[in-house]
Formats: sequence, structure tokens, C-alpha cells
Amino acid sequence: MKRHPDHDTLLKYALQTLSAGEAGKIRKHVGACRGCRARVERLEREIGLLGSIRPQLSAAIPPLPRKSMPWPSVWLRAAAILVVGFLLGLSTAQFVQPRPVDVVEQYVVPQPPEATSGAAVSCAPIDLPTTLR
Ligand SMILES: [Zn+2]
Repeated sequence: MKRHPDHDTLLKYALQTLSAGEAGKIRKHVGACRGCRARVERLEREIGLLGSIRPQLSAAIPPLPRKSMPWPSVWLRAAAILVVGFLLGLSTAQFVQPRPVDVVEQYVVPQPPEATSGAAVSCAPIDLPTTLR
């Protein structure tokens, strides 16, 4: 390898993520090039430092503030729901319930037919209510 490998390639070499063929070429170059060997050693030290860091997750998550409604608000909402429900039921009941029908009693008093052309008409006696007599 005549040219120096770039930083990413050296980092992949230090992390041992290169293919076997690519790693062999870099190993050969690093063995012969003092500058690249120094860069790889520095990268390996930094990787070692990063590996020794232990994350500290001691930060406690504070509980969320609980929203509690004051008691008059709860009762006012419940009362409003009841009133709205009552009014809806009342308005619906007017549509569902039939209106009362006024019944007027009517009686038809049969009239004797007019005498025409001598045709015989027989009438049976009817029973009229006492109010009409
Ligand atoms: Zn080099």
C-alpha cells in the first residue's frame, strides 16, 4: 500500500471490523509506516478508554405531577352531565311519545231516502243512544 489509509479505514482496523483481506493490507502498511502505526495506537487507546466508561444512570426520573381537580369542579361537571342528559332525554321523549288525539263522538242519523219512481225501500229500526232521543 503506497498511500496512507484514511482515518476511517484505520479506525475500522482498530475496531477489527475490516475484512480479512483489507485488514491484512492495513497490517502490512502499519508495520512499515511509523505515522500510521502511531495513529492506530492512539485510536486503540481511545477505544480502550471508551470501553472503560461505565454509564451512570443514577438520575432519578421525577414523578409526573398529578393533576387533581378541586372537588367543586368535579361535582359541577357531574351535575352538568346529568342536566344535559335529562334535557336530551326530555327532548327525545317528545318526539317518541305520540300526541293525544282528541276523539269527538259523532252519530249519523239516517235520513229516509227520497221517494222516487215508486221503488220500495225498507229500513230497519236503529237503536239510537239515549242522548239523541
Ligand atoms: Zn502510513
